[in-house]
Amino acid sequence: MKKVNFDCIAGYKAEVKELSDLCKLLRNCDEFLSKGFRLPRGLLLVGEPGVGKTVMAESLISESNIRCVKIDIGNVKDDDLADFLDAKFKEATSNTPAIIFIDELDKLCGESRMFGYGADIEMTRKFIKAMNDNQCDGVMVIATANDNDMLGDSLMRSGRFDRVVNIPVPSYEDRKEIINYYSKDKKFDKKVSFETLAKITGSFTGADIECVINEAGINAAIEDRDEICFKDLEKSVNRIVFQGCEKEKSLDKINKEIVAIHETGHLIAGLCLDKEGVGGVSIIPQGDTKGHVKVYRDPLTICNKQEIINKIVIALAGRAAEKVFKPDEDYIGAEFDLSKAYGMAKSLIQDSAFYGFEYYADARVRRMGEVVTSEERHKRIEDKTCELVSECLTRAIELVKNNKELAEKYISELKKKYSLTREEIMRIYNRYNKK
Ligand code: ADP
Ligand code: ZN
Repeated sequence: MKKVNFDCIAGYKAEVKELSDLCKLLRNCDEFLSKGFRLPRGLLLVGEPGVGKTVMAESLISESNIRCVKIDIGNVKDDDLADFLDAKFKEATSNTPAIIFIDELDKLCGESRMFGYGADIEMTRKFIKAMNDNQCDGVMVIATANDNDMLGDSLMRSGRFDRVVNIPVPSYEDRKEIINYYSKDKKFDKKVSFETLAKITGSFTGADIECVINEAGINAAIEDRDEICFKDLEKSVNRIVFQGCEKEKSLDKINKEIVAIHETGHLIAGLCLDKEGVGGVSIIPQGDTKGHVKVYRDPLTICNKQEIINKIVIALAGRAAEKVFKPDEDYIGAEFDLSKAYGMAKSLIQDSAFYGFEYYADARVRRMGEVVTSEERHKRIEDKTCELVSECLTRAIELVKNNKELAEKYISELKKKYSLTREEIMRIYNRYNKK
């Protein structure tokens, strides 16, 4: 394991504080145990790939100076897994204090090891069994996971992973710190503003930001410049946003037109309802999506009801634009938008009780797989959801219709250029917005 420590983590003050408190405990572990306490059984760091979970876990391990048994199930066959896990736990308990470290626990117990959805019950059971059979007050399990929904509740309850630390994507302030951290010892043009860079990297992870600065350096080097200028940074930001390789050729003509119409719909609704949040638009296919509008938004902001409704309208606006510009054709391909919109609407209704408790369904009970709602209540919730989604679609269609001229401009620009940056979007907006 490479030697890292807490100084390798920029930003994330609260999270690092929590980990360094734990570290203090681990360092004085013998004294603590002699008073009759036990270590937390398990610490789970949860967050998107690239937010720094591994670095944080490794820093905690290396700074605690405690023996660490690493579990890497790489090539272990499913049939051997139970024995393998048991042996690893025994290795740890044989000489305490000790830490057991599993990176990407969800790969073991989560969806990715099998098809379909939900936690892999069999794997989870094996893991819990190894953990239970080898319970020991001087051993703590540290794990990272990208998605704790995949892990199943049985792993999360007290006595198993009794400490869960969520690592969100960095906030604006954290991004500034990460940018400072990675720009140490590098030369920048005087005009480069790290604040602006922090603003245009909303929703980027620490790993993305490291990559942006490195790519910018490469770009400057290719052009024989010593200093990184803002253009270099912007270019690498856009590369990450749009993974902008030259895939445009794969878009045939009809496709291109429809995707441009669809994305323009999202863009228009975004400009009407959350102008600051619009970051860029692209019709270059990426993974399963045919194009997309990048939204700059701090994921930490808590949305109010109206903001969530706005998000639903924005999600439906791609379909809305198709209806406005191609009223005679019914395209499929907005499934993801529709399911996202439907999901948000349903959550607003049944989780937040914004529409009254007659539409409320207790999420905690639901997660345990129990049926909480009577058939009647279920129907009430579904009907209300349909009503809300339909209203939002109507609203999205209105927005596109009211801004048809502006939309046409974006469609033709997108067909020409494939991607537009926020700057280009705003230039067109300021020129063609009729208000
Ligand atoms: P994860 O385990 O969440 O996928 P990693 O810990 O592997 O992420 O981090 C990926 C890369 O990004 C590492 O090189 C790491 O140093 C860097 N990184 C991520 N977040 C930060 C941060 N807050 N400060 C410094 N580097 C970071
Ligand atoms: Zn869409």
